[in-house]
Amino acid sequence: MKQIVDSKFILQALLANNPDPVVVKDADLRVVIANSAYLNLYPEQIRDQVIGSTLSSWLTPAEVATIVERDKVALESGSSRLVESVTLPDGQIRVYDMHRVRFEDSDGAAFVLGTSRDVTERETLIDKLTHSNEELERFAFIASHDLQEPLRMVRNFTELLQSDYGDSLDDTARKFMGITIESATHMQELIDDLLIYSRLGEDGAKDEEVDVNAIVDYVESNLMETIAKSNARIIRNDLPCFMGNPVRFSRIVQNLLSNALKYQAEGNTPTISISAVDLENTWLFSIKDNGIGMENEYREQIFLPFKRLHGRSQFKGTGLGLAICRRIIESMGGLIWVESELNLGSSFSFTMPK
Ligand code: ADP
Repeated sequence: MKQIVDSKFILQALLANNPDPVVVKDADLRVVIANSAYLNLYPEQIRDQVIGSTLSSWLTPAEVATIVERDKVALESGSSRLVESVTLPDGQIRVYDMHRVRFEDSDGAAFVLGTSRDVTERETLIDKLTHSNEELERFAFIASHDLQEPLRMVRNFTELLQSDYGDSLDDTARKFMGITIESATHMQELIDDLLIYSRLGEDGAKDEEVDVNAIVDYVESNLMETIAKSNARIIRNDLPCFMGNPVRFSRIVQNLLSNALKYQAEGNTPTISISAVDLENTWLFSIKDNGIGMENEYREQIFLPFKRLHGRSQFKGTGLGLAICRRIIESMGGLIWVESELNLGSSFSFTMPK
């Protein structure tokens, strides 16, 4: 008996001292239990009327409609959730994350238990971050888009100079023109990758079947020249079909496979294996090479935009390939990482939730 009294006392103390609003309503949506955090959501002069009544008398019709709808969903389906702004009696607007669950008492009568958490600060931060992300994406897009035109002019006119006047210039002048064209080409690649990076958020593509074997065929045909030149051997095992975004998936494969072919010691024959493992809720893909590998300390940094471990004279590139992969994969709810040993090779793995 003492134990029951104590547990009732503890439950009451838990309810009363919970800073989050808690309410229990019966099947007619009448409030039967409410803690003070819940009652404080209503003007002081009506707080003593809350228990025993439905809320309709002091809320706007729109508020009533939303609350009733969520309560009914919880009663019918077992639970419901809603993130909603609430105007407090002092006029402040706060955002609450409201959970409702249905339960039954020992007589089988149904009730809704509602708990809410004030998430105003979190939501404000999310809004600010989303806004500044959008601004950054827009900035990167406009900056890189507008850089293309003058760059095309530099490249085209230097090429014209080279073809029309090259013969009348000396070796040094021709070398300078060669460097100008190469730098312009590199800048064009950087702009192309920056445009891809900044546009990733907005393709709005719908899920469709991704045939991984067909995508690897396509990527291999794009890289045919490099594969033939290096005599590379590419092994695949059991690649699946799944629902996703084939354009984004092929971009990931293209970046990882071209890196696996590129970051090789001089004279080494690349051997690359592409595999997939079904982990029930997610696919785990890996692309493993026998290339130059890297020190442990760089395993995280290489996924940052523009981070490169080698000069362009050694390996060409923009430093954006892995950043693009990470952005795509994380936006789909997956993760990407690398395991690597210097001079022995690297294995890039990533997950794709089903
Ligand atoms: P890029 O290849 O254009 O430089 P990435 O973002 O694709 O840019 O790669 C970033 C850096 O990570 C590369 O410059 C390279 O130093 C390292 N890296 C990427 N893939 C591999 C790999 N398979 N083996 C060894 N190092 C790699």
